[in-house]
Amino acid sequence: SRRTPADRVRTTCGYCGVGCTLDVVVRGDRVAAVLPAGDGPVNRGHACVKGRFAYGYLGSAERLTEPLVRENGTLRNASWAEAIALVADGLRAAVQNGGPDAVAAISSARASNEENYLVQKFLRTVIGTNNIDNCSRLCHAPSAAGLTASFGRAGGTDPFDDVETADCLLVVGANPVEAHPVVGARLLQRALSGASLIVADPRAVGLAHHADVHLRPRPGTNVALFHGLAHVLVDEGMTDPGFLHERATGLGELTDLLADYPPERVAGITGVPADDIRKAARLYGRAERPAVVYGLGVTEHLHGTDGVRTLANLPILRGAVGGTGRGFGISPLRGQNNVQGASDMGALPDLLPGYGRVTDPEARARAEAVWGRPVPERPGMRIPEMFAAARQGRLRALWVIGEDVCATDPDSRRVAEALDACPLVVVNELFLSETARHADVVLPVASWLEKDGTFVNFDRRFQRVRKAVTPPGTALSDFEVVHAVADALGADLGCPTPAAALAECGRVTPLFAGLSHERIDREGAVPWPCPAPDRPGERTLYRTEFATPDGRAHLSAAPYLPPGEEPDEEYPLVLVTGRRWAHYNSGSMTRRGGNLLLDAHDRLDLHPEDAARHGLRDGTPVTVESRHGQARLVARVGTQVAPGQVFCAFHFPASGVNSLTSEHADTVTSCPEYKVTAVRLRPA
Ligand code: SF4
Repeated sequence: SRRTPADRVRTTCGYCGVGCTLDVVVRGDRVAAVLPAGDGPVNRGHACVKGRFAYGYLGSAERLTEPLVRENGTLRNASWAEAIALVADGLRAAVQNGGPDAVAAISSARASNEENYLVQKFLRTVIGTNNIDNCSRLCHAPSAAGLTASFGRAGGTDPFDDVETADCLLVVGANPVEAHPVVGARLLQRALSGASLIVADPRAVGLAHHADVHLRPRPGTNVALFHGLAHVLVDEGMTDPGFLHERATGLGELTDLLADYPPERVAGITGVPADDIRKAARLYGRAERPAVVYGLGVTEHLHGTDGVRTLANLPILRGAVGGTGRGFGISPLRGQNNVQGASDMGALPDLLPGYGRVTDPEARARAEAVWGRPVPERPGMRIPEMFAAARQGRLRALWVIGEDVCATDPDSRRVAEALDACPLVVVNELFLSETARHADVVLPVASWLEKDGTFVNFDRRFQRVRKAVTPPGTALSDFEVVHAVADALGADLGCPTPAAALAECGRVTPLFAGLSHERIDREGAVPWPCPAPDRPGERTLYRTEFATPDGRAHLSAAPYLPPGEEPDEEYPLVLVTGRRWAHYNSGSMTRRGGNLLLDAHDRLDLHPEDAARHGLRDGTPVTVESRHGQARLVARVGTQVAPGQVFCAFHFPASGVNSLTSEHADTVTSCPEYKVTAVRLRPA
């Protein structure tokens, strides 16, 4: 049939955090194609194989179409009325037997802003607990904590578009060519147009082939590397004394610490040659408009928050942040479509929508005035604490919304034990995921192409998500499901539509007060902070002052501390996990369609020297063992990884990759140390 304008629905990609604008071509009630929008504010006519082609899952025969409830140990089909009644009864029983704090929920980037807002409101005002967390706990929680400590707000400092005026790009712990391909292409384009490029990553990732200097630190040694770079900036007078005097604090303490990090000593810790450290520091230090972009290679460490803060030292030392016009500042590449938004909306145990602390009486009073219900004062549990509480019998009901915790969380065997110990586990899902298999009630829900709302991308832009097709069977949106459970408990959550929810959120926090669906429909993308309907959102933060209590940027003097695990005789290799270009997280969507043909299984990348030592060749099945578990993968031999290191993704849960990873986690935020696990290999 011929395409007409009415066949196209404009929406925002539901995979990575770039936030590409997509035009979905719909015939009947089926997606016929997904096209990148030529006028998309971030993607400008481009998209990658995930957003463009990974929609085959919509019509998969494995989609859940009816609720499932557990009876005599087996999941069986049920009506919505029966399933919701079971959830409501289970929540009532949990509160009765253990109090409100015996209930917890894990939300995620799979949910829109409005859904995240609603579920945190449900936990806080209907159940009476702050036990709400989201998947940022597993990725960029250290960014939120670190950037807030350094600058005052939990987001990147500048709009990504400004990278196009940067004359030096420092890309750290990220592989954007595969994980954020549209951003990767724009960074590469900028580098090929004349900006110098420094890549800091243990692997020879795509951008590293075009870098002026590639720093390959041993996994877990970032803080030492960043101090080495800062040492050279200070030592060779490449700082901005005026900026540091007027707008920053902590220089004395940092300078004292940096005396211990000359490049030669840093080379010993990191394995990066001292001359390369000097070369990189001089490129960054002498640039007129340097930019820092980083990914999970900075955050997913035992000292991930220190990593973010000590990396943020570099733009502060250079005066390249805060609207000075002398640089781009620093931007975290968010892995998931709406992981920024899930946190912005207050799906966090210690923070309300807009980042007011639950311990702050003023922030609570603002929310209580809008919600008409008291907000609990005590911070709730983080995700790892929820699992520990379940294993100890303290958590009696857990609601998981769109997160396959049994596949993606570390030490997955222990996660499954926690779910099995919890009297009520409710899972909102598209498929019978690893987590859903442990649930008591499984609720079928709509995917990003089947619902309305908004997402926030990695550079703080709110963009619209629009329903292109109807979800299968009786599946509902997460928004509708949360309302149904609240109704069954006799509670009125208000905000009957996603548009009403975003409007209400704007009354809870000035950060989003100027936002509405209508405005985002009109303008396409609106960045936060956006305090009033007649004011533009702030693309560049901190033009007048930083949002810290004293209005200054804070330099960090955190010392380098070793990672949680280091290789030894028994486990001589270091495993780093990450993403591949064709798949997304646990692969539940990208594995069910054409992308499976592009990349059919998880592989273990290893260096030829290690392959020879273990008698492995390209394509050989290999068993990987850590102190926590084992996984079966297929060897891929190449020099992308350094000797002594191996790399794999976690897109195929059957491989068991996250049974290898440990419970070591960032000391500030509990973000798992996915980037350093000591392992050994044997042919399978
Ligand atoms: Fe764009 Fe990321 Fe979606 Fe690819 S996965 S189309 S880069 S938003």
